Amino acid sequence: MRTRIVPLLLTVTFLFNLSPLGRGNAHSVFTPGYAAPQLAGIPAPEDVLGFVPGDDRKLASWNQVLAYFAALAKASDRVDFETLGKSTMDKPFVMATISAPENLARLSEYRRVQELLADPRKLGPPGVRDRKAAELIKRGKTIVLITCGIHSTEVGSYLSSMLIAHRLASSNEPEIQSILRNTIILLVPSLNPDGVDIVKNWYDKTLGTPYEGTDPPELYHKYTGHDNNRDWYALTQVETQITVDKIHNVWHPQIVHDIHQQGEYGSRLFLPPYMQPVEPNVPKQIVAGYTQLGNFMAREMREQGFKGITTNSTYDAWSPARAYSHYHGGVRILSETASCKIATPITVKFEQLRKGEGYDPRKESANFGPVWRGGEWHLRDITNYMTTAAFLLLRHASENRDEWLSRFYEIGKEAVRPRKKGELQGLDIVNGGANGSLLRHILGRGGVFAVFGEPLNVPKQQSGRGSLHSYVPIAQPYGAFAKALLEAQHYPDLRDSTSQPIVPYDVTAHSLSFLMGVEVLPVYGPLKYKKVLIEEESELPYYGKESRVAIYKSHVPSIDEGWTRWVLQQNGRTSPWTNMDQVVGTRKPPFFSLLDAEVRAGKLINKYESIIIPDQIPATILNGYKAGAMPREYTGGLGQAGMKALREFVEQGGTLVCLNRASNFAIKQFNLPVRDVVADLSQKEFFVPGSILRIELDTSHPLARGTTLAPRMSKESIAWVEDSPVFEIISTGSGSDRVDASNVHVIARYPPDKNPLLSGWLLGESRIRGKAALVEVTMGKGHIILFGFRPQYRGQSLATYPLFFNAISGK
Ligand SMILES: [Zn+2]
Repeated sequence: MRTRIVPLLLTVTFLFNLSPLGRGNAHSVFTPGYAAPQLAGIPAPEDVLGFVPGDDRKLASWNQVLAYFAALAKASDRVDFETLGKSTMDKPFVMATISAPENLARLSEYRRVQELLADPRKLGPPGVRDRKAAELIKRGKTIVLITCGIHSTEVGSYLSSMLIAHRLASSNEPEIQSILRNTIILLVPSLNPDGVDIVKNWYDKTLGTPYEGTDPPELYHKYTGHDNNRDWYALTQVETQITVDKIHNVWHPQIVHDIHQQGEYGSRLFLPPYMQPVEPNVPKQIVAGYTQLGNFMAREMREQGFKGITTNSTYDAWSPARAYSHYHGGVRILSETASCKIATPITVKFEQLRKGEGYDPRKESANFGPVWRGGEWHLRDITNYMTTAAFLLLRHASENRDEWLSRFYEIGKEAVRPRKKGELQGLDIVNGGANGSLLRHILGRGGVFAVFGEPLNVPKQQSGRGSLHSYVPIAQPYGAFAKALLEAQHYPDLRDSTSQPIVPYDVTAHSLSFLMGVEVLPVYGPLKYKKVLIEEESELPYYGKESRVAIYKSHVPSIDEGWTRWVLQQNGRTSPWTNMDQVVGTRKPPFFSLLDAEVRAGKLINKYESIIIPDQIPATILNGYKAGAMPREYTGGLGQAGMKALREFVEQGGTLVCLNRASNFAIKQFNLPVRDVVADLSQKEFFVPGSILRIELDTSHPLARGTTLAPRMSKESIAWVEDSPVFEIISTGSGSDRVDASNVHVIARYPPDKNPLLSGWLLGESRIRGKAALVEVTMGKGHIILFGFRPQYRGQSLATYPLFFNAISGK
């Protein structure tokens, strides 16, 4: 481990006087399985782990990973290793910084170069900026952030991180020397340290049993599971916050290499460019950068004999949810290598290969090939693809250092350019109370500057006159990030040759302004502000009354269940965006987790007032894992015994709150007089792949009453709609257990007289006009509440939190 003594402040003048550092000029091709000249005394991963990362059926624990990097940093003057914070479950969140020793001695200078190029205003008046930037570009290094392991069952990348670090620390190949001189590599062995052990523990426990290679029956991130890679704009989780606060915002990397795995039966490897559409706020230089780099990596790997590589397919660049860097000056190079069964090899037959969006793995085409003929697929194949791709990326970063830094500066220059008359000047956030404060806090974390104050010249017709606003000027380094989160998304109407909608890779909306119910107005002329300093509200006191709440937790992990726990744990904290675990122990969690066995045992009314069933496929709620698919204690869902117990619970006075797809489960199982009108429609007829829609509330109903801070909800609200039912009240025919239609109350509807779409993509809107989005059914002494949307979507839909909290707060 090196001790760094760095100056705390560094002036621009000093930077300009640095002597030029050498640049490598080696251009030879890397080969996997290298046998290169090596430094003595540098530990290899097997010296610490007892196996080579990538060996069949071997996983490293998080402690082993930490031990390896500590040993490497101790032995090598090319490696710094530090703990940046603590994960959700209190494990060290770490990063290795790898570069030539002379670069490591001057990290603060290189950070300063990055800061100045990112915000050219700091270089002085416009006339001198280009000249000063050119000198900085000459001296700077390409900053490359490599992130591994955000999805913990994709084990190849955290294992590869040790192989990558070892080669960089130990090799004397000219190519590696050149990389070390020209780049600074920030290597995060896992963005989700907790998941490393969750997966390893499950894998080791089931090794040698029929369940070897299955996914663990719990979320691999305590609250968000796979959605931890959907958090790069709301920044709710501690791991995201550490990465943004302590890496992105400090280093502004030009290249982020995010290493993932995909399914077993598609391409062997995906590399950018991304398929359409690209979110319009992503700078064109970013698109050019990932296109050039991704194509370079794919071409070189094909030349080296790697098969089954696709580009420009499956994955798009529509959302900041997975790509913080696209709005902060850096390209994101996603790689997706085909998986095996965790660390267990598989055999894939050629006929088993399946088409993806934009390519067919059995046919060579412009963006796919050469064809992989099938066969065995080992963890070693995965680490070979990953490490080869990573070193090609580093080679490009090194050989094109000038170009990467110039492009980075050009992005900054365009971002801060004063906007011309008629161009969008800024965005005006109208008040917004506690939600507005939180929105400002998120933007601030993303590096966005806002003026907070009282506008002096708000036009007469504009709402929010006389109240406090915040104004976000567009001309600032990360103005595009703010714009992406504050404006509506208009997803393009993409169809195939049969006019079937092309299914987007992910959801299509990310407007935090709508999700949080905060009004934002575009500003095209000058707006004058009187700056005011106030104590901002930060408490979100939704949870008015103590109530005994249980959240149903299926053994088949539900991401929405995790988010629901997170949202409830956040409640009542002074800052809604901090980690509850830091104070658990001083205060009882406001809910209980309810497993299948406890539901089946019945007598639920003695313990709980409300039970939440989070969003999940109805058949999975009912049946869980099939017998034989998992160890016995995890199989079977609620079953008939569970259904009987839930019916009793409601009839005896309990409240059952069903979220999104869980509503269809209740409709069917309890024979409710409600029909899902979109259930049987084709995608050509109706399609809403994750969008924000407009709903109208019956504010006389207790569920749509306000909270302590805001006693009234406004009649217009929003709904996060994704795989959602849309309700119509019907009279059910027969059955002794039937509920009469008069027992159903509609609390929210889609507007009858206008298109419900606010942000994202919606086809067939006429099908849902006037239909119900939220209903309450009285059954016996209790109630069933059916949400046809996700009122606590990914911890973001604060606009509909009151509906959710009112639903569970008892009567
Ligand atoms: Zn992944």
